[in-house]
Amino acid sequence: MIDGHSLCAQLDALARISSQPDGLTRLVMSAEHRKANDLVASWMRAAGMQVHEDAIGNIIGRYEGLQPDAPALIVGSHLDSVRNAGRFDGPLGVVAAITGVASLQQAGERLPHALEVIGFCDEEGTRFGATMLGSRAVAGTFDSATLALRDDEGISLAEAMWGFGLEPAAIGKAKRLSPEVLGYLELHIEQGPVLESLGLPCAAVTAINGATRLAVTLTGTAGHAGTVPMAGRHDALCAAATCVLAVEETAKAVGLVATVGRLEVHDAAINVIPGDVHFTIDLRAARDEARLAALAALDAHMRAVCSARGVGIAITKLHELAATPCAPQIIAAIDQACSKLGLASHHLASGAGHDGMAMAELCPIGMIFLRCKGGISHHPDESITAADAGLGASLLLEVMRAPGLTGFKATSHNL
Ligand SMILES: [Zn+2]
Repeated sequence: MIDGHSLCAQLDALARISSQPDGLTRLVMSAEHRKANDLVASWMRAAGMQVHEDAIGNIIGRYEGLQPDAPALIVGSHLDSVRNAGRFDGPLGVVAAITGVASLQQAGERLPHALEVIGFCDEEGTRFGATMLGSRAVAGTFDSATLALRDDEGISLAEAMWGFGLEPAAIGKAKRLSPEVLGYLELHIEQGPVLESLGLPCAAVTAINGATRLAVTLTGTAGHAGTVPMAGRHDALCAAATCVLAVEETAKAVGLVATVGRLEVHDAAINVIPGDVHFTIDLRAARDEARLAALAALDAHMRAVCSARGVGIAITKLHELAATPCAPQIIAAIDQACSKLGLASHHLASGAGHDGMAMAELCPIGMIFLRCKGGISHHPDESITAADAGLGASLLLEVMRAPGLTGFKATSHNL
């Protein structure tokens, strides 16, 4: 088993690289990004890897297999953070992968395939609003329109790249070709409470949930709260309240997650019947069919509610992203590695987005979730135990050894 204490000490060292003196904030193309890449590069070199920084600012270490230039299994996560972040979301997957390579090097072990550890430069999208910049560049799906996005200080991504020593026009060089990549594997904290509640340390991820976001506008009739009788009202907020509960009921009935996170009453006043109400719906599911069926049912339900109340309804789609299934071969490899280490294997879908969504455009992907305290993430209270860190890294190493000569891809194409 890998020692979790030294791994956690490395995560502590990374957490000290922050633009915020009393917490952790590390944004892409910043001085902290540079320092984090330098520190991670030093660990990669110490583990026997050839290191380079690619055209988008990802830090990459390569550990050759038995044959030079063999296709690589890519293992990694992201080094950027949200504002006032925890220290495990992202860096855990990078440091655990380096720790795994270090133990191969110490044992003098070479695998039939190469390993590449990547610390992605931006997954969270905190600075420029667009997420997964690093993994999109590697997968070859980077949208050049992103270069014009500006941060809170008005600096564009292109300008920030210049400042970091990168050439925006050269981003295409970060793209990897399918034949050189066997798959993508990531260890990440669960960011939810399920594993802790089950008393299990880890799980294989089945899919990264697809998501739909809607904006809903209800238009009733505003009126005097004292003079309009209850019977003749077209109260847009009463209709919205019924719709909000329908969102919750639909999600519970079909086993997915849905949330109304914003609700606004326009021209609200204590003595006015609400005539104009806006709210949002965020609905996510591991299977696209389940998400689309729930959306259709919800659409019909809300329209019926509004029709019965004489309230107008307009529904606008803000965002839609398909689910990303994990490769069955990688899920099976994680299950086998669990049994080898004497761990129960469990399967979970990911409710949050990850770099694997972008990497799936390039190669088969797989993820391991590690339990975290209280399911808390994106917060300084984010926490895992050193024992779990060691266990997660040991499990990751077992799966890093798994693809063999054929690779996850070769087997996945045969299914
Ligand atoms: Zn993350």
